[in-house]
Amino acid sequence: MCNVSMVCKMKAMRVDLSMAMILAILLSLLLSSVDAGHPKWEPSVSNVKWVHQDVFKTRFHRWLNSRIEYCFDTEETKGILGPSVENGLEYWHHAGLSEEFQMIEIERQACLGRSRPTSLVISLSQDGSISSTIGVDPNDPAEMILANPAQLSPERIIPIVAHEIGHVFGLYHEHQDPRFWDSGNQGPFIFYCDRLRGYQEILQRLGFIGVWGKDGVCTNSRAAGREGFSSSNFLPEPPEMTVSSNGWHANDGDVDWKSLMLYEGSAFCANRNEPALVRRSTGEPTPLNLAPSEGDIEGLNHMYYASRDTTFGEILMVYHESRWNHLFMRHVQRNN
Ligand SMILES: [Zn+2]
Repeated sequence: MCNVSMVCKMKAMRVDLSMAMILAILLSLLLSSVDAGHPKWEPSVSNVKWVHQDVFKTRFHRWLNSRIEYCFDTEETKGILGPSVENGLEYWHHAGLSEEFQMIEIERQACLGRSRPTSLVISLSQDGSISSTIGVDPNDPAEMILANPAQLSPERIIPIVAHEIGHVFGLYHEHQDPRFWDSGNQGPFIFYCDRLRGYQEILQRLGFIGVWGKDGVCTNSRAAGREGFSSSNFLPEPPEMTVSSNGWHANDGDVDWKSLMLYEGSAFCANRNEPALVRRSTGEPTPLNLAPSEGDIEGLNHMYYASRDTTFGEILMVYHESRWNHLFMRHVQRNN
């Protein structure tokens, strides 16, 4: 009961203050939970760079608990590739990737019979080619196809397998971040599609428009993928499929030049002295990297541990979806 108006006002102020404090605490809790989905990932203060599959807004998703369950297609393949795959993951751990990222071999029959993509099947290529699916795609069974290690130079085997493991967890090639390719002739890379092996043959088969037109194999990564031409490994990925540490019009300083997911300039080239991928600022071929970089690890941490993008707009959107929102609105209205 309030008999003296001044006392009543003071009590009301105390109620308002305590409500404001509760709301401030709730808001800070809410914002901190949006900012980092997992204690393992905080927005980086250093300049490490990465690009991974967008698992926040597309059909793609992550391996459950960052564990890939896999098998080899045959016992013979396991005998040939088993040690390389184990070493490839170990290599990531040595470079600093959390031990929470695991590859667990499961029983073959269950693995092959399962409704994939919940398991990865590893097989051996007949022609020395190497490829992997990216992340987990409900429309596309996960697979990793590796060359026989006997066909590779010994110092390249583990880095190559580690690169493929990076793809299976969800990383794209560093140079295929579309944010590097939207500045016309100002971007950090120059790509010479006509230096790739098989260029003359595909030009003959598809004609100039099929190669250099808007949806040509030297201008569009999806078209290149459909034709099985190696330019699909160089051209920018569709923007809507990627999440990156970069903004648009990214430049030379935004490239992780040490990334294991960056191609060396002469990969897939007809002639080693005529590289297809060149660093614009130096005119040099892009470097050969043999170990996961800090940026590669940060990219996987972001993909698996960040709950979502942390732009101010999205924070506000989440806040307005919050069940505490009506309390906040009532408080604001009462004070107006
Ligand atoms: Zn690759």
